[in-house]
Amino acid sequence: MIGLGIAGLTACLYAARQGARVLAISKDIGGQLARVTYIENYPGTGPTSGFEIIRRVESQVRELGVEIVMDEVRKVSKEGDVFRILTSKGREVRSLAVIVASGKVPLTIGVEGEEKFLGRGVSYCVICDAALFRGKRVLYVSGNVPHLEMSLDTLLAHCSKVYWIPKGVSIDRKDDKLEILRGFDLLKIDGDDRVRRVVLRAPDGSTREVEVDGVFIELGYRVSIDFVRDLVQLNERGEIIVDTLCRTSCEGLFAAGDVTAVPYKQAIIAAGQGAIAALSACEYLSTKFGKKFRRIDWSKPKTHTFRISLRL
Ligand SMILES: Cc1cc2nc3c(=O)[nH]c(=O)nc-3n(C[C@H](O)[C@H](O)[C@H](O)COP(=O)(O)OP(=O)(O)OC[C@H]3O[C@@H](n4cnc5c(N)ncnc54)[C@H](O)[C@@H]3O)c2cc1C
Repeated sequence: MIGLGIAGLTACLYAARQGARVLAISKDIGGQLARVTYIENYPGTGPTSGFEIIRRVESQVRELGVEIVMDEVRKVSKEGDVFRILTSKGREVRSLAVIVASGKVPLTIGVEGEEKFLGRGVSYCVICDAALFRGKRVLYVSGNVPHLEMSLDTLLAHCSKVYWIPKGVSIDRKDDKLEILRGFDLLKIDGDDRVRRVVLRAPDGSTREVEVDGVFIELGYRVSIDFVRDLVQLNERGEIIVDTLCRTSCEGLFAAGDVTAVPYKQAIIAAGQGAIAALSACEYLSTKFGKKFRRIDWSKPKTHTFRISLRL
């Protein structure tokens, strides 16, 4: 397993419950979800923090004896049926199946206030957070991202006023609540404990201050796939193409979550894909190698030990 966001954690949960020997390598635990301060669209939890969801799933995974190594994967290669995984700390792991769940990082603008107000008015995800701005005024800075029309519709459905700075977007929209600020730049996000206003630069060079309650930035994202780029087929955004069983173009290599070309980057979708990838990987190991999974002694959880170099 490479990556322990919600996709990787869920894959660990499913693979370990099947009896597979699972080694997870990740730079951190929780990924994007661990930094989401408020989430209300994850089924069964009610409004909560992303960190709380991660905390619970991580504890389920640890109970099942998954070995977790904090490290960064630098390279995955394949020799015959065997994958060789190299890490930045010099580790080398061999495995018959690999699940990539290394996620993505949203592109930022880098203006003053952007980081300070993240989760307190600044968001990188309209689908995730538009409903938290019911009746509020927001600024939307967007590139030519997938689902742009839907994002605009969603913002207009919830918010009282939407200022839109389109970047490299040619589509036009007319709506009483919408003010298009073509050619404007966002200079600064300001407020107290939350976002209260933004400072913009107009095409003629003058500055304009606009009172808003939120700022949505959707300029795209960078997927974390450099270590596997040579092995798998990618789409035009650099995301890993998977089929409905989360199989990639490389046999034995599966992918799940935001790193894949599957649309609508959401926690529940990443988790669902993690489950699919794990079951697919287990089925692959059984059918191709006749692998018998370990028998789990449920009376003694946490007693399974693994070496860093997996036995094949
Ligand atoms: C601000 C914000 C708010 C959001 N709000 C919501 C919301 O309200 N509802 C919702 O459903 N979704 C929300 N999302 C989206 C949701 O968080 C993501 O869709 C989901 O967390 C993706 O999970 P993932 O496991 O696929 O990837 P990630 O969370 O990106 O996890 C990837 C993991 O891989 C690790 N990794 C990366 N590269 C390597 C490497 N080379 N070696 C080892 N490890 C590596 C990372 O450290 C990380 O642990 C939000 C996202 C953001 C940024």
